[in-house]
Amino acid sequence: MLTKSILYVVATPIGNLNDISLRALDILGGVDVIAAEHVQTSKHLLKTHAINTKLMTLHQHNEAVVAEKILTLLASERNVALVTDAGTPGISDPGAILVDRVREQGYQVIPVPGANAAVCAMSAAGITNPHFLFYGFLPTKSGLRKRELEALKSQNCTLIFYEAPHRILDCVADLIAVFGEQRQLTIARELTKLFETIYTASLAEALRWLQDDSNQQKGEFVLLLSGAEIQHKSEISDQAQHTLKCLMADLPLKQAVKLATEITRENKNQLYKLALSMKTEK
Ligand code: SAM
Repeated sequence: MLTKSILYVVATPIGNLNDISLRALDILGGVDVIAAEHVQTSKHLLKTHAINTKLMTLHQHNEAVVAEKILTLLASERNVALVTDAGTPGISDPGAILVDRVREQGYQVIPVPGANAAVCAMSAAGITNPHFLFYGFLPTKSGLRKRELEALKSQNCTLIFYEAPHRILDCVADLIAVFGEQRQLTIARELTKLFETIYTASLAEALRWLQDDSNQQKGEFVLLLSGAEIQHKSEISDQAQHTLKCLMADLPLKQAVKLATEITRENKNQLYKLALSMKTEK
């Protein structure tokens, strides 16, 4: 039995219909109403899992109005679940306006976590930089897109974008125009689906790869762009930095720092910090 007057924000699969949690299924089956971005899309998922809960539509263009209807349901002790077509509601998807209103009125909002395309892509990309910035969709027009990208140029963290198939070539071309040809790009396409592809290369190679095979331009995309090189404003001499870098190529970090300290007579702590930042950048 679910407690009364709660809004559950439920993540749904981004492709493979089995990527839904047992808890999500319990909640979707137990609430009075499910607010869904597209009723037909959610019906397909619910049918797969034999759930017959009543559905109502909540999308980008009616969210504020439907939020008031959902408040009425919560006021009459009903429970409501929010889902979108795929992944986590509120992440490049409707949900934030509703959640804000419901919290404002003092009702409980419970997140039910699950699939998210950005996190799914990061988990399989092998990017060692621990910091990332989720940007979501860029503007559809090239001029505006480049302007927003310019503002991200000096970010050291991995930049995560969502992109649609009909804009993928133009978008990667704009990434090159702003960031140059050498930054690494991971293209995560059709995650959890039949044609799932995860490809990493320099921006220039990635564009060629997309152009050479039109099949790779189809489907849904997450783009992971490596961040700007960290500038080391350290007092360590260029010669010592070079020595450390060479040693780090063949030795574990601690050993490289120890040897570099002996060879260069630089401060050990500073060399250690530099070694850590070099490792993060890789
Ligand atoms: N709320 C979703 C989430 O949690 O990831 C995102 C919804 S947004 C409207 C849809 C975009 O997410 C797609 O255009 C694509 O960029 C990305 N996406 C969704 N599913 C994907 C998948 N299976 N593979 C790659 N990207 C996906």
